[in-house]
Amino acid sequence: MKARIDESLCKGCNICVHVCPKGTYAKGNRLSDMGYFAPTVAAPEKCFNHGRDSSKLICELCVLSCPDQAITWVPEE
Ligand code: SF4
Ligand code: SF4
Repeated sequence: MKARIDESLCKGCNICVHVCPKGTYAKGNRLSDMGYFAPTVAAPEKCFNHGRDSSKLICELCVLSCPDQAITWVPEE
């Protein structure tokens, strides 16, 4: 699975960037429609859940840490 950030919910606090032990996220440099610098999922292949399906996730630290519930999982292409 791959993390996805919903920019309509994200406030650009960057907690996900700092909490991820694998460096999956990177600080954003583009203003979202909400007017925040939302991070990007810059290196999804580094995530502990890369290559796993939704029933076998082994880390959700970013999802649980996000104060705006802006991070969800989507299947990898
Ligand atoms: S699930 Fe864990 S490893 Fe994957 S992006 Fe979130 S914090 Fe990083
Ligand atoms: S923790 Fe949530 S609200 Fe904060 S930057 Fe990450 S996705 Fe956006």
